[in-house]
Amino acid sequence: MRCNVLEYLEEAAGKHPKRIAAADETQAYTYAEVLRNSRALGSMLARSGRRRSPVIVFIDRAAELIPAFFGVVYSGNFYVPVDRKLPLQRMKQIFDTMEPFAAIGRAEDAGILEQINRQIRFVELAEAFTASEEPELLEEIQRRHLDTDPLYTIFTSGSTGVPKGVLVSHRSVIDLAEQFETVFRFEDGEVFANQAPFDFDVSVKDIYVSLKTAGTVQVVPSAMFRMPKKLVPYLNERKATVLIWAVSALELLYQFRALEKETPRFLRKIFFSGEVLPMRVLHYWQEKLPDVCYVNLYGPTEITCNCTYYLVDRPFDDTEVLPIGKPFPNTEVLLLDEQGKPAAKGEAGEICVRGTCLSLGYYRNPEMTEKAFRQNPCNPAWPEKLYATGDFGKYNERGELVFLSRADSQIKHMGHRIELGELEAVLNAFPYLEKCCCLYDRRKGKICLFYQAKTECGGEIQKDLQQYLPKYMCPNKLYYLQQMPLNKNGKIDRAFLKHTYLGGEEHEREL
Ligand code: AMP
Repeated sequence: MRCNVLEYLEEAAGKHPKRIAAADETQAYTYAEVLRNSRALGSMLARSGRRRSPVIVFIDRAAELIPAFFGVVYSGNFYVPVDRKLPLQRMKQIFDTMEPFAAIGRAEDAGILEQINRQIRFVELAEAFTASEEPELLEEIQRRHLDTDPLYTIFTSGSTGVPKGVLVSHRSVIDLAEQFETVFRFEDGEVFANQAPFDFDVSVKDIYVSLKTAGTVQVVPSAMFRMPKKLVPYLNERKATVLIWAVSALELLYQFRALEKETPRFLRKIFFSGEVLPMRVLHYWQEKLPDVCYVNLYGPTEITCNCTYYLVDRPFDDTEVLPIGKPFPNTEVLLLDEQGKPAAKGEAGEICVRGTCLSLGYYRNPEMTEKAFRQNPCNPAWPEKLYATGDFGKYNERGELVFLSRADSQIKHMGHRIELGELEAVLNAFPYLEKCCCLYDRRKGKICLFYQAKTECGGEIQKDLQQYLPKYMCPNKLYYLQQMPLNKNGKIDRAFLKHTYLGGEEHEREL
């Protein structure tokens, strides 16, 4: 039985030392090099004596981050990928939550620690990769390791205004890699074209499914997702066979009609997740690549990427919704009604998940953990956790699970998971705003801010917001109101705002 994801690395490096494990536009690492570099970094960090503790890894889109993550794991600790370009306020919040004992990055990242005033150890990656190895120390760490120990923390938007760090164990990731291999039967040496940034859990599948199957992760430069002209030639040059991408990325290629001149010739499997894939986008891809296998994956970060899958096995017309299918083996999905009872046959219910895929919870956040990870109401006999996703689903007449909607104000915008409550919490702290409310215009794909203030101050709001939140969380359209509409309970009348500004009933139906 596997206990540690590093066993996959050691196996792959033993069998295929010269095979490329990770590459980007300018660098490539063989399995032997990934192993050597991660053991060197691991030895360097392990000398601190810290175990089962967080280490921040400043990320962008570079292949060297893969040995950086494994290096942290060799040291007996867990990694926390953090985008080096995050606004400092948000960076501070993450550091406050994690209290890391070290941070890893390029030489220029040391300045970030100064800017946020953290006196913790900074490890420069290039230097760490050449450090001397301490085999006995690493062996001792692996001997004491348990599969329930944490592997990484990935942050998601939090409705209280503070992002939540989802803590995931080795066991859950091993389960994910095993299930993916069993269900989707990857071949030896597949090439995974990585689209998702390493601080998104979609990338966890690229890293660990590739590792498990001795494949190659080819990191696609982010510029190619802004201007996708070069993207398909790049996929062909790198011989990509698998895409595990966010819906928004597949949509982008459709919008740019990026498959007209050339198609990805080596592709065999396309997995997508994060949102409902519009049928016209699927049809476009299917028309251009009819022999590829398409899979809709569903699930939140809290259950280690995905709990259900649907292998597209029949034609759909444009008005139909693609099912999210059925649970992975070793995973149960329950649909619960408001009383926590199983929803009646054919009725909608909240999607709740049970199994090894459940993460350990939110790091140093017992209240939010308690709220989302609850005792299974169908089991009064022993402690057993369910994760309540906040998503509603139901079974269709074929017995396939279908995603219906969110229960709260969480949205997906340009592939990012955002709690509108988090945006509102930041805005509410701006003294010049009297009242504000954020809504999502799904048809136009815009975050809309309605605000009441003494004077119109859109420019100031946008400028101030960028100090606190990543760009993708900032509103795309601002509505200045002299008087915010209130309902009879004195609360902001969101239904009225939606109806009046975002297209009323038609919009409601789309929601
Ligand atoms: P994240 O934690 O960023 O992966 O976001 C998880 C949320 O994205 C889920 O709770 C759903 O609301 C949504 N989601 C993920 N996959 C799908 C899918 N295949 N179809 C519809 N919504 C999805």
